[in-house]
Amino acid sequence: MSHTVAVDIGGTHIRVAVYEPDSIIPIAHHRTRSLANEPGVYARLEKAIETVWPQSHVKAIGIACPGPLDPHTGTILATPNIPEWQNFPLTSKLSEHFGVSAHLDNDANMAGLAEWQFGAGKGHQDVVYLTISTGIGGGVISNGCLLQGFRGMGGELGHMLIDPNGPLCGCGQRGHIESFSSGPSIARYVKEELLAGEKSSLQGEAVITATQIADAARAGDELAVSAFERAGHYLGIAVANYLAIFDPSILIFGGGVSQVGELLFKPFEESLRKHTFHPHYLDGLVVTRAALGDDAGLLGALALARMKSV
Ligand SMILES: [Zn+2]
Repeated sequence: MSHTVAVDIGGTHIRVAVYEPDSIIPIAHHRTRSLANEPGVYARLEKAIETVWPQSHVKAIGIACPGPLDPHTGTILATPNIPEWQNFPLTSKLSEHFGVSAHLDNDANMAGLAEWQFGAGKGHQDVVYLTISTGIGGGVISNGCLLQGFRGMGGELGHMLIDPNGPLCGCGQRGHIESFSSGPSIARYVKEELLAGEKSSLQGEAVITATQIADAARAGDELAVSAFERAGHYLGIAVANYLAIFDPSILIFGGGVSQVGELLFKPFEESLRKHTFHPHYLDGLVVTRAALGDDAGLLGALALARMKSV
């Protein structure tokens, strides 16, 4: 029986799991701290995989990792989360060490792939997955295929340009959707408005997070409500663009910020309706929450390894 090994590399933890064919319940699982800013991340990764490596045959290793990276060559280009890995040939090192093929893609693409194969997007052929948390990431399934692109940099939905004069994005450019609607961007807007003299129950808080803003909004704080209205408004513009390009049958939202619910999604849906160039895009369009939670990266890596090693 051929097993598949899946790896999810995050800023705080490395997770590794082993799966039997056709199963998404791991027969072994290991989690270790990635200590991403300290030397030796690769050695820790290798050791974590060895911890769960089964006696029986392994078909392939699949890896979800923060980008930017090149899934075609299996190289990590320069992920800010793991400073030690610059142009790091991750899959060839793992292949050489473990003697099986290894396949890599970025964590948002992998979460999108997992939601399509095993989660909220099952049965659909055209899926747009968006995760909204400290950043915004995306994954696209088009006509039943994971969209990777010529350089493997397709589906970077968080860096959709909304306003070239907009706020600074995590990537260093201005006005991408991430700079309007991610958790830190919502918090930054509230802080700026407070500095400009807006009144709010959040006044005087040393640190303001999207969670606090959501609590304040539910208690009726006008500035907090308007912060989510603004984020939802811009999100609607971004998604109107995605509809025009990908024409999906389902939109899947993951990430902590999308847990706030109506605060974000009501203004989002209004904005989407307003900015979509043809109402037919909205006919039967399913808008739903991600189903796989923290396991999405791992299950995406599993799906990728199975897909690539058939
Ligand atoms: Zn950006």
